[in-house]
Formats: sequence, C-alpha cells, structure tokens
Amino acid sequence: MKRKPKVYIIKLNRKMLILLTIIVLFIIGAIIFKEFKVSRIFKYQSNRTIVIDPGHGGIDGGTSDKEGLLEKDINLDVGLKLKKELLVEGFKVIMTREKDQSLEEFSNINSSRYRRDLNARKTIINENDPLTFISIHVNSSKKSRARGIKIYYYPTSSEGKELAESICESININIYEKYLKDNTLEAEIIPEDYFILRETEFPGVLVEIGFITNPEDNRLLKDERYKTKVAFAIKKGIMEYLSGHGQGDG
Ligand SMILES: [Zn+2]
Repeated sequence: MKRKPKVYIIKLNRKMLILLTIIVLFIIGAIIFKEFKVSRIFKYQSNRTIVIDPGHGGIDGGTSDKEGLLEKDINLDVGLKLKKELLVEGFKVIMTREKDQSLEEFSNINSSRYRRDLNARKTIINENDPLTFISIHVNSSKKSRARGIKIYYYPTSSEGKELAESICESININIYEKYLKDNTLEAEIIPEDYFILRETEFPGVLVEIGFITNPEDNRLLKDERYKTKVAFAIKKGIMEYLSGHGQGDG
C-alpha cells in the first residue's frame, strides 16, 4: 500500500514530462517561426532601395533641340533631384549614373554600344534588389504640339502599371493642377515593350518628363523649379504605390 502513491506520482511525472516536452517544443517552434518572420520582415524593410536610371549620357546625348539642349543633361538633373527627394524619405538610392557618362564599358555582352549601355543599366537594377526603379527620359515629336508627361510600363506587369498610375496621378495633382494650374494638361500611362522594362526583374517605369520639341515643355525643361517639382511628384507617386505594398512609412 505504500508503493501505490509512489507509482501514481511517477505516472503523473511522466505525463507531466510529456506535456512539458510538448509545451517546450511548441514554444521553441513559435520562437523559431517568429524569428524567421521577423528577420524576413526586417530584411524587407531594411532593403528600401530604389534605383534611378537617368537615360543616355556621355557620347549618347539622347534627343535635343536646336539650341543644343540635350536630353542626357535634363535626365541627370531630374534624376539627381529625385535622389535627393528619396534620401529625405529614408530610402537607399542607387543611380545607374551620377555623371555625364554612357555605361557600355560596364557590360561585356557582344553587342552594339547602345545595347551594352542598356544591358549595364539592366544589370545595375537587377543586382540591387530594388523596391522599384525609375528610368528618366525626355520625349520628342515631329508634331510640335505634342507635350506632357508620359509614364511607360511593361504591358504584362500589373505592379508596373500600378506604379505608373500612381505616378501619373501624382503628376496630375502636383504638376498640372497645383503648379501649372492648367486643367487642359494631363499625364498619360502607356504600356510599352521597352528593353529596360522587359529585361528587369523588379517593378519599374520609364518616365518621359516632357517634349523637348514643344515650346512650352521646352521652356519648362530648362526651369529648375519645374524639374524640382517633377522629382517631387515622382517621389510622391512612388510612395503612394509603396504604401499599398506595406512599404508606406519611413
Ligand atoms: Zn531618351
């Protein structure tokens, strides 16, 4: 009769041990899961990189006007202004170029200078794992009436389209409504099979910030305040887009 309670206690201990083991395993599992998730989220938030790609450069002036105004210089100017805007918001910014240079020397594919330049830009975008990328260009047309900002996205990229829509809306509000106070103007989004949109693995757009061939746009493209506003509007559009993807603040 003396042993009975002892056995009972041992049995209870075994049950408790099993229960305890289950609880401990559960806690360890929960911690591992949480750590894993946290570290993933942390990685996601810490990599807040945006790549800015000012088109052309160096030997490649892009489009131009009769007075010798070159697209490559406007692209770089607005690109650097956009960089400033994004740095203020805490983003990490990578530029495909920060000076007047073309990029073909950074590509070893066996192709034309033009293709090697584009390939180098593509590589910079893909290797930096960005949230988004923005290529900046200036438009031209045989019709001098053609004007306004156009945002191009890859036809099958829904993320690219969302980003384009977001930037388009921001430009309509911040540039056309508030800054130029001209309700006849409207930015436009256009699906286009451009190399830089097709060959990159991250959502991005190509923004043509105006027509060098249109007298009004031409004047604006030389205006520092306008270019600063364009950079601001693009940034606002990017942030609006990112806020819909859990990347809103900071
Ligand atoms: Zn261009």
